[in-house]
Amino acid sequence: MLKRHGIFAIIGLIALFAVLHLGFAPEDHSSRTTGTTLLGGIAFLLMTCSIVLSTRAPMFEDWFGGLDRMYQVHRIVGVLAALFALVHFFGVPKALPDGADPAVNVLVPSAPLGMLSLIFLVIGLFIALNRKIRYSFWRPTHKIMGLVYILVFGHFFTAPPVFVAQFSPSGLMLLAAGIVGILSMLYSVFGMNRRTAVPFNIEAVNPLERATEVVLKPAGQSLDFKPGQFAFVEIDAKGWSEPHPFTISSAPGEDRLRFTMKVLGDWTRKVREELQPGVDVKVRGPYGRFDASNAGDKQIWLAGGIGLTPFLSKIRAMEPDDKRQIHLVYAAREAQEAIFLDELKVHAGRLSNVTLVPLFSDEGNFARVDMMKQKLPDPLDSYEYFMCGPKPMVDGIMKDLKAEGVPRHKIHTEAFEFR
Ligand SMILES: Cc1cc2nc3c(=O)[nH]c(=O)nc-3n(C[C@H](O)[C@H](O)[C@H](O)COP(=O)(O)OP(=O)(O)OC[C@H]3O[C@@H](n4cnc5c(N)ncnc54)[C@H](O)[C@@H]3O)c2cc1C
Repeated sequence: MLKRHGIFAIIGLIALFAVLHLGFAPEDHSSRTTGTTLLGGIAFLLMTCSIVLSTRAPMFEDWFGGLDRMYQVHRIVGVLAALFALVHFFGVPKALPDGADPAVNVLVPSAPLGMLSLIFLVIGLFIALNRKIRYSFWRPTHKIMGLVYILVFGHFFTAPPVFVAQFSPSGLMLLAAGIVGILSMLYSVFGMNRRTAVPFNIEAVNPLERATEVVLKPAGQSLDFKPGQFAFVEIDAKGWSEPHPFTISSAPGEDRLRFTMKVLGDWTRKVREELQPGVDVKVRGPYGRFDASNAGDKQIWLAGGIGLTPFLSKIRAMEPDDKRQIHLVYAAREAQEAIFLDELKVHAGRLSNVTLVPLFSDEGNFARVDMMKQKLPDPLDSYEYFMCGPKPMVDGIMKDLKAEGVPRHKIHTEAFEFR
């Protein structure tokens, strides 16, 4: 679900800092010093927000509308921090003001720390934004940003008083942010942010068209989740690298946990080709807030390809007395690729409130807003929209819905990527 509380909280934090910094600026600071340190302080606060978001804390999932959105904001906020830091670096006076005692600048590590953090920031940003770098390499190298954060903190705290008043109200705010940021970073880096692992055992590995269904049997208590949520799956055997996120495609209450994994890269290919029943698996979660249960009475669910998985769980869990009117649009390249289509037809037959609309692009049928406008019984803005699928499809439909006057808060998306 789209939630904006978190974004407003970040904006509020920045605004408070700006008011404190400008309102209590020391009189002997030039306006250039005050302005550029304001930008530096904002950069530090944004970095702090970015680090706090990477803790995966459930509270923030509520504020931002799910972990996928938290990671999107984490990325945007991180890039903004770098931009503010760059302007701060080029704008901040390098020479001491006239009359300042040069002794204050001797043996002060602030400048080299600032320079070093800028170099690492540029390297870290290049790695963070480079989608060509494989995830398994990208993830550990991304942790370089933690080092940048510590360097920036040192840069601020050791800055000469002619530039920064560390114990002014805005300075104290940065100090508090630094403590929160460092604690959050330790929490994430040392894996304390991971939810408790729930042990499972592979019961079956079912090949589907370009995907694999993995069926897990609980080794003890199963996982408690809501339809549409996802979890990190870690194969507990040699050679299976890091955990991967997948939406749970079974319904809550089933005695088995099911994931449907599209074959995309090395890991998902290995699942299909090598994973065997009997192997132990750790599942961490649940995460995500792609929850349609309390949304409006009229809903459009738009699934593109493997983006069906959250809807699969929802429809498997749906009771016949459900009051919502749901149009499930399932877009795939061709009928053969539309996995679980037969099962969906059975559910649509069992549930009088669900209309299933399969669309195959090889037959010239695409999910389009003008088509929805023609075929839906009510105006477009009377529905609540839930979308999961390829980014171009989701972005295109979002743009067209907005152009048709559907408010953004009625459009909910789930992204299948974090970076
Ligand atoms: C919230 C969420 C829910 C998802 N649900 C499903 C689902 O139900 N079914 C499905 O088929 N896919 C789902 N995915 C996508 C799935 O996680 C990736 O396709 C899978 O991890 C690819 O791994 P790979 O090594 O085979 O492919 P690669 O080619 O290495 O990676 C393909 C993409 O997956 C990302 N990725 C790779 N490894 C990881 C990782 N360990 N953690 C996070 N991202 C990674 C990469 O950044 C890249 O964008 C989901 C992703 C997210 C974020």
